[in-house]
Amino acid sequence: MDERALYDLACVERRCPRCDGRTRQIDKDTSSGREMREYGCEACGWNHGFDLGVALWKMMSDAKNRAPGK
Ligand SMILES: [Zn+2]
Repeated sequence: MDERALYDLACVERRCPRCDGRTRQIDKDTSSGREMREYGCEACGWNHGFDLGVALWKMMSDAKNRAPGK
């Protein structure tokens, strides 16, 4: 995971960078094999998507495929 994205996410999870209002997670999608999350602010309409890297299920599935003697 990108450290910069992680830092941004930690901030945005708590408050909106534009109006300082409360944010909430509006979307989460791991279907592409990457964990994508979107956060938004109801007060000003700000929203931002985060790419959090390889999704957990994808990591597990890759690890299983690499296991010897399958
Ligand atoms: Zn806002």
